[in-house]
Amino acid sequence: RSDEVRLAEEASRKYGSPAPTIFSKVIDRSIPADIIYEDEKCLAFRDISPQAPVHFLVIPRVPIPRISAARDDDAELLGHLLVVAKNVAKQESLHEGYRVVINDGKHGAQSVYHLHIHVLGGRQMNWPPG
Ligand code: ADP
Repeated sequence: RSDEVRLAEEASRKYGSPAPTIFSKVIDRSIPADIIYEDEKCLAFRDISPQAPVHFLVIPRVPIPRISAARDDDAELLGHLLVVAKNVAKQESLHEGYRVVINDGKHGAQSVYHLHIHVLGGRQMNWPPG
């Protein structure tokens, strides 16, 4: 709890006061989620509306609203999220490959303003995306 308060304070200092989102409730366990990995910096959990046989999200505990709001000094955290994405993809047996997506803002069709990395796999993806 005190950790969450510290992270929230850090986030408001760095990113302004981001509006809390549904993902804050996943982090603090006030709503259920199928969490498949967590560590001190991030969580991975299954998307509630999967767009592929395997579809999970990787989110930082600190509520960065969107990738465009990240700061250059978030490089280590952003790198960590990608490392976790590929490790969890392996844990999920996505040996034939997968898609990694970050939606930003209106044109990116972002709907939840807490930075998240989508990992989709278990079927053939197509390109270009819609
Ligand atoms: P979009 O909704 O257009 O995919 P985002 O990139 O913001 O935009 O993705 C938000 C994702 O969060 C969606 O895939 C949605 O299904 C998922 N989601 C929303 N609420 C929950 C939840 N409570 N638990 C798990 N996933 C969720």
